Amino acid sequence: MVPGLERYWKINSGLAPAKFQIAKRIEAEIGDSLIDSHRDLKKEFVKMWKNEDVSILEERVAEYSFLNLKVDLLKEMLKDCQFCERKCRVNRYEKVGFCKCGNKSFYSSEFLHFGEEPELVPSHTIFFNRCTFSCVFCQNFDIVYSDEKIADPKELGMLIDIRYRQGSRNVNFVGGNPDQHAHTALETLLYVNSNLPVVWNSNMYHSLELADIIEDVVDVWLGDFKYGNNECGRKYSKARDYFEIVSRNFLRAREHGELLIRHLVMPNHLECCTERIVKWVSKNLGRDVRFNLMFQYWPAFKAREHEEISRRLNSREMKKALEIASIYLDNLV
Ligand code: SF4
Repeated sequence: MVPGLERYWKINSGLAPAKFQIAKRIEAEIGDSLIDSHRDLKKEFVKMWKNEDVSILEERVAEYSFLNLKVDLLKEMLKDCQFCERKCRVNRYEKVGFCKCGNKSFYSSEFLHFGEEPELVPSHTIFFNRCTFSCVFCQNFDIVYSDEKIADPKELGMLIDIRYRQGSRNVNFVGGNPDQHAHTALETLLYVNSNLPVVWNSNMYHSLELADIIEDVVDVWLGDFKYGNNECGRKYSKARDYFEIVSRNFLRAREHGELLIRHLVMPNHLECCTERIVKWVSKNLGRDVRFNLMFQYWPAFKAREHEEISRRLNSREMKKALEIASIYLDNLV
């Protein structure tokens, strides 16, 4: 069992219920104010989540549940989108915002992924398209800009059960980024029967409004921590207030689930990004947080337009990054 992911391990072992399976068993009233009902039911949910009573899986699924209510809330939010901190406030039934997503979701592929962190594999990755960032070095640009398959919640839900029977240890909503497709991801979970952990593989730039809804289904936050300051976030991802927003979201995520943090080390960004992130994580989330220091950066997409990041890492940088991380953190992947 990996320290920091004890609950994940329990769900994997059939000793605890996944959050979404609890949410599906909490009865909600149709017709009440969605926000008020959500606030009230959240208290009930948190008690049941902390209780870790796996026998809840034997109870019947509610006809209209806390999870249905969340889906309806998200669909309502689409009319004035604030899913992420860009807060475009567009009606996504009629227009698109920065992420270029309307109300329908698309994905490029889904499969059992064996290249994720050891505790996650095989991981059932579902690659949604588009992103709330616009990273010049996007390593997944082929996925992000693909509108290949429409993400039908019922079909995807059935696929998640099939992949589970094939050996998946979790369902991993990724992209691009999953946040702008939260309504589809949560609706998909309505159709899933298996008790498996939900992994949210995100850039952690979501709004507090979105966090309030999705945190009751996310078991593991697989979050990217890209930059140690706002300037790099603005320059490479067109994201304002990067550091404040992402650090705030990591702190909140820790209260509502388990964390696995990824940091992609970038050339010439050891002091301004890697070192600052590692120190902040150690001080604020603890030395024992699960942390993946990633060295696979390559100058993808438009990275060559920026000379300082237009190459791979050299061995000196990799060694230095590992040294820094080893001083401050105890639970490196
Ligand atoms: S998800 Fe974010 S980027 Fe996309 S429309 Fe909503 S607020 Fe804008």
